[in-house]
Amino acid sequence: MWELERLRELVMGLEGKLERLQKKKRKLSKKGFTIRYVKCGKESCNICREGAGHGPYVYKTVREGGKVKSVYLGKLEAVKDKLNIEDTSDQIKNLEKDIAQIEQKLAEIRKKLREIIEDVIG
Ligand SMILES: [Zn+2]
Repeated sequence: MWELERLRELVMGLEGKLERLQKKKRKLSKKGFTIRYVKCGKESCNICREGAGHGPYVYKTVREGGKVKSVYLGKLEAVKDKLNIEDTSDQIKNLEKDIAQIEQKLAEIRKKLREIIEDVIG
């Protein structure tokens, strides 16, 4: 069935793109700092629904007795000069948006496939 082959290619393409974007995002985090947008989880929140989330916030990754912890340092605006962090928040915001879109597409494909399978066997 050519449709299945096409679908497989589509999913693999999306997964590959997702991986590349996530790698790019990690690269932007310099000197152990992570710049991140956070979703608050509230359904009524416009900032989260229409954008990458709240922030940008800065975290530092620290190792403590073999464990890796993420320590919150503050809003990027407030700490970037003190910590000498390059402001890559716009790039990260765009990457977060692209990543969210791809994840949503993949989720939709999986949902439709499940529906089809249930239809056929149900
Ligand atoms: Zn929110």
